[in-house]
Amino acid sequence: MGKIIAIANQKGGVGKTTTTINLGASLAAEGKKVLIIDADPQANATSGYGINPDQMTSSIYECLVDDYPLEGSQVPTCVEGLELVGSRIDLAGAELELINRPNRERVLSKVLAPVADKYDYILIDCSPSLGLITVNALTAANSVIIPVQAEYFALEGITKLINTIRIIKPRLNPSLEIEGFLLTMYDARLRLANQIYEELKGHFGDMVFNTVIPRNIRLSEAPSHGLPALVYDPESRGATSHNALAKEIINKQKKKAKATSK
Ligand code: ADP
Ligand code: MG
Repeated sequence: MGKIIAIANQKGGVGKTTTTINLGASLAAEGKKVLIIDADPQANATSGYGINPDQMTSSIYECLVDDYPLEGSQVPTCVEGLELVGSRIDLAGAELELINRPNRERVLSKVLAPVADKYDYILIDCSPSLGLITVNALTAANSVIIPVQAEYFALEGITKLINTIRIIKPRLNPSLEIEGFLLTMYDARLRLANQIYEELKGHFGDMVFNTVIPRNIRLSEAPSHGLPALVYDPESRGATSHNALAKEIINKQKKKAKATSK
């Protein structure tokens, strides 16, 4: 079974999509089979891979609302081993369409179940909201990555997300784990950035990734070329930091598998 990881934070602009795009590419470069689900109506992960909505036979909207199978909705990307199910702006209407469904929180879970075996990792790029689609993502996921931007008030937004996870866990997804807090747009020259890292460590300890993602211009340029940083500029710190993050996640999973097999 593939590991399903939601990338979530209800704050916008903290690096959710950048993490999804680039972690996906780096996991695929490690030889993993990866699927990205774009669960944001803004469709930034879709456009960030240079995918035109016309190329998609169906988007995540049709899978959620019209019961299209996910198999066949994937599109290949410029990265070998990495596929994506795209989003369109109409996904914004899906919340209303799903609201009266029985088990409305488990729709994405059911959509993903038939393909989960095909992939090592399924990454879900969430929208900056804690609405029904994000609840679906957190219900379908095995774990969640919480990107935290290295700036003032960074920790404020997290409290709300953690409360949501606390509510979802017992009711909808008891095995949901926090994969890690990821410090993004880190500038080592700024004392503030270091303070935030220390504060995050103080609060969440081992749940904070050792890898931090630096502020790197290549990470912000690459999406306009429809490429992950790993293809756009493989030597950039934006690309190499995501390689380190991929390795950290893979190693953590290996360690855990070892510990549970003992
Ligand atoms: P979210 O998905 O949480 O809204 P994004 O990943 O879209 O956030 O990032 C917000 C903006 O910041 C984008 O323009 C993105 O290119 C830029 N950005 C994100 N991470 C970095 C980084 N590490 N270095 C430089 N720019 C970044
Ligand atoms: Mg985004």
